[in-house]
Amino acid sequence: MKYLQAKTALITGAQKGIGYAIAEKLASLGADIFLTDINPEGIKKAAETLSAKYQVKAEGFAHDVSKELDCENAVSSAVQIFGKIDILVNNAGITRDNLVLRMKEKDFDDVIAVNLKGPFFMSKSAFKHMSRQRSGRIVNISSVVGQCGQAGQANYSSSKAGLIGLTKSLAREFSKRNVNVNAVAPGFIETDMTAALEEKTRQAIISQIPLERLGKPEDVANAVAFLCSEESSYITGQIIAVNGGIYI
Ligand code: NAP
Repeated sequence: MKYLQAKTALITGAQKGIGYAIAEKLASLGADIFLTDINPEGIKKAAETLSAKYQVKAEGFAHDVSKELDCENAVSSAVQIFGKIDILVNNAGITRDNLVLRMKEKDFDDVIAVNLKGPFFMSKSAFKHMSRQRSGRIVNISSVVGQCGQAGQANYSSSKAGLIGLTKSLAREFSKRNVNVNAVAPGFIETDMTAALEEKTRQAIISQIPLERLGKPEDVANAVAFLCSEESSYITGQIIAVNGGIYI
């Protein structure tokens, strides 16, 4: 059933990986999709492909989520083109891994700027519109390492733990306007972000996952779709783990 028909969704970092899978899932459920990414060619192509495949309206918009003005422009363009914004998925994220003693201040700041300030800017902009229409859904893509920490990822795990705090605070603040805010915390998912892992490391990770495999982008997209559906209307401020049981 196309239960997102007549809904509009803005998804950041959507030209590939988990963001693309989320865009595809929401489009397959009938939503019009406004896709953003820092990569202008990639995001235009993603919008064209999904629009043709699912017969929905799709726009590709290039911007940098770490810049507040860029985020305001993305949201106002989505509203101008589609007339409203029902769903925001804060998916864009980066890693700059290193051991703490070798980690430069810039590596820390860059990751916080994209992974934590980006969702803050986007949510603030989107809420102005959702608040007026008195409905909306915001889904933040956090990570298992924001829940349990990870050596070599002090910057990334801090940003993802911060995103959990942001999710809970926004849920409390936005609830009066019927805007639900939740997060999905994926475990290890097969994308470019994890493709760089050496085979030995990959096998070591799999050996710690009760379901004995890495996740697929679609596993995350399914949880996001649920959080955008009517079935989840009484859920807000929650962190849904999609991690194969690696952190229980
Ligand atoms: P990905 O394949 O690297 O995709 C991330 C997308 O975000 C890329 O298209 C990237 O563009 C874009 N992006 C980067 N910086 C941006 C910026 N400043 N403004 C706008 N877009 C930007 O990553 P993924 O694995 O699909 O991850 C998606 C989300 O899930 C991230 O938030 C990540 O932290 C989270 N996550 C991933 C995993 C995993 O195992 N893969 C696990 C837990 C959580 P460029 O490629 O051009 O930089």
